Amino acid sequence: MPGSAVLVVDMLNDFVIGTLKCERANRIILNIKKLVEKAREKGVPVIYVNDAHLPKGDKEFNVWGVHAVKGTKGAEVIEKLKPRGSDFVVDKRRYSGFYETALDSLLRELDVDTVILVGIHTNCCIKHTAADAFFRGYKIKVPENAVEAFSDKEHKFGLEYMKKFYHTTITDVKKILGEMERKASTSFHTP
Ligand code: ZN
Repeated sequence: MPGSAVLVVDMLNDFVIGTLKCERANRIILNIKKLVEKAREKGVPVIYVNDAHLPKGDKEFNVWGVHAVKGTKGAEVIEKLKPRGSDFVVDKRRYSGFYETALDSLLRELDVDTVILVGIHTNCCIKHTAADAFFRGYKIKVPENAVEAFSDKEHKFGLEYMKKFYHTTITDVKKILGEMERKASTSFHTP
């Protein structure tokens, strides 16, 4: 039976404490930690989707300046949310986690039909990843207290947009944790 995966988007040093530092990203670290820990415990795949840019000439640098260059400290996942052995890591060079990456085939191989998007930014990489997930037929859940943006306005815009255009369920971490708990206990009792 198809299931969910947690996609942790761009919780990297450069976006949280580095060159494109976002103070508001600190608010969601603990919630993301709770989610990925529960997911690991319940066998729900955890997939890190990380900016990993070329050192020079990357088109995104025209918009944001140089950031998250593959192989640098800035492109590493923040200390508090480091991937574990059973997690997957997918590199990306654009806002969307699906654009010319291995994400779609990985999700299919894991029999995933629902993506739970967490990380930053609600109105950029989360939104673009949601768009591509929607185009490919995935169901999308976004816990609003596990995504953030530079401002409240941009955060809310992203949530509203995904809800309206990509049929995204806007939820919260507590509800997702409850769902993971219930689903696991149901399958446990199924012969
Ligand atoms: Zn980037």
